[in-house]
Amino acid sequence: MGAACYLLSMFRPDSNPTVDSQSDPGQLGLSQAATLLFRGIRRRCPNCGHGPLFSNWVKMKETCPNCQLVLDRGEHDYFLGGYTINLIVAELLVVLGGTATMVFTWPDVPWTLLTWALVFLMVLAPVLFYPSAKTLFLAVDLILRPLTPGDLAGPPGDSGSAPPGLGA
Ligand SMILES: [Zn+2]
Repeated sequence: MGAACYLLSMFRPDSNPTVDSQSDPGQLGLSQAATLLFRGIRRRCPNCGHGPLFSNWVKMKETCPNCQLVLDRGEHDYFLGGYTINLIVAELLVVLGGTATMVFTWPDVPWTLLTWALVFLMVLAPVLFYPSAKTLFLAVDLILRPLTPGDLAGPPGDSGSAPPGLGA
């Protein structure tokens, strides 16, 4: 019952907002970390669970439309983290897919079909996983470097002040 309630709570956008619930910004609990990762892999804002964070499949917005989290955390090379996660996931899919096919079809491995299928997977997987890789990296980064008021942009028209509740 408790686990089911917890899983259901991860689908609700504002069920576990890290901005409001962090009493100690240096410590994230395991359940909060899992929530951030789950939101990230679903291409939602890891902080609040809202979206969309993309104006098209590859173009990420500058801030979360709900909580105003600056999605690159003010770093010009932030895309490298998503790129790395995307590469790792794509390569793992190819290795695991190839290995599983060989194991289950041995000794009659369809080598030609397997080769072309893995080439297709190698090209398609990074394209399909790209947005999730970026938001997943943002989630990992928020776990390792928890949110600070400086990571939040002010509401539109406001020049960078912290949102209510986080300011002095
Ligand atoms: Zn957000």
